[in-house]
Amino acid sequence: MQLARTPPPSMEALLYHAQMQGILPLTSRCNMQCIFCSNAYNPETCEVFTIPPRRLEEIEDSILWLTGSRGPIVIGESVTRITEGEPLTHPEFPQILKLLRQHYPDRIIRVTTNASLLNPELIGLLSELEVELMVSLNTVGHREQVMGDKQPESTLRNVEGLGGKVRFEGSIVALPFVTGWDDVSNTASFLKESGAWSIRIMSPGFSRLHPLWKDAASFDVDEARSFSQDLQKDLKIPVLFEPPGITSVTPVVEHVLPRSPARRAGIRPGDVITEVLRRRVMTRTEAFELIRDHEKPRVAYDRQGVLYETVINKQRFQPSGLVMYDDLDLEAWFEWERESRVKRRRVLVLTSALAKPVIEDALELRGLTTAVEGVPSLFFGGNIEAAGLLTVRDFLAAYSEIAGQGSEFGAVTLPKRAFDPWGRDLEGVSYKTFEQLSGKAVVLA
Ligand code: SF4
Repeated sequence: MQLARTPPPSMEALLYHAQMQGILPLTSRCNMQCIFCSNAYNPETCEVFTIPPRRLEEIEDSILWLTGSRGPIVIGESVTRITEGEPLTHPEFPQILKLLRQHYPDRIIRVTTNASLLNPELIGLLSELEVELMVSLNTVGHREQVMGDKQPESTLRNVEGLGGKVRFEGSIVALPFVTGWDDVSNTASFLKESGAWSIRIMSPGFSRLHPLWKDAASFDVDEARSFSQDLQKDLKIPVLFEPPGITSVTPVVEHVLPRSPARRAGIRPGDVITEVLRRRVMTRTEAFELIRDHEKPRVAYDRQGVLYETVINKQRFQPSGLVMYDDLDLEAWFEWERESRVKRRRVLVLTSALAKPVIEDALELRGLTTAVEGVPSLFFGGNIEAAGLLTVRDFLAAYSEIAGQGSEFGAVTLPKRAFDPWGRDLEGVSYKTFEQLSGKAVVLA
């Protein structure tokens, strides 16, 4: 089906919006060629933008815009439509970090890197400026095959050099059908021994155009999740699997960092946070953010049916040491309740299959009944499932099937993250096209 596309915004507007969310794109260039890179194998009409290394003067001007969020300043993570490459390939990377720290002495600065271009001098600077890293390591034993790393020993030495100097997390895209599970386990152990404070293991997501998509589709997510839990027990650091497979918004603590304020306050993995500042909390995200944003928050928690109370002795915005999955932003949820008028009319919520049980749980807690449907990705195909990668084409296909069964809805909710700030999906098609073709009002949330 041909759907009308609206012209893309200017690069200045895209950069401005990224920066208002605390994201600072530096360059789309990368020195690796990962077989799982999301920058390759997109359908032809997928709208992504590549940028050369940005000029230092331009970055200096735009640093002032990183004010729209209180969260970390993020470099090198692909969360917008601007293709993120390897930030350390930017020739002025050290100067950029110095400028950032000068402007934002207290903000967390987080850089995602493949670690191949680190060196002792740069590690010293990262340590001095208290910059955090997300090291996308992926494999220790198959680096050339998986990432195109021509100097694997040197990259691994760089990661070992971070230990005790730079706070970092490690990430692994699990490709057991290429590397075997032993390599995933060895990579996690290597990261822990090198000083990583936590490890993320990610399920591979490949579009139908990727030669390995069938292998990725047969990837056993439950097996991988329990493998990650076993690793967490062995390594005694947080090992978080993505997607987490959560089916409720119950504020469960996944892990508590050693020697952290939360550990000293007595909180343990598996505890459920019930109140923060004597206020009942509904979701993980709500509990986590309330604790993060307050000084010495009083917290009530449930451990196997017994209620406890404690005070987490920490400063405002200082990390508590609690590790919890992200689920629902409560402010956005209440805004959706108001805008959709879900208490007075039947709303159809179209989302990813992954988010469906979480939304259903939140609806039940709020005493609301409405239909929630998981939408498969036709545009990307393969084993792509994330709500942010769904398109108007996918929503229309799902809607016509549901409407064909005779259900009536006053409005349809589509996931906001599938659209850019101008309401355009990854093909440049506006959500208004969905309204025109379905005849239903859309509320983004
Ligand atoms: S290091 Fe990151 S940006 Fe570079 S090829 Fe690999 S996944 Fe893509």
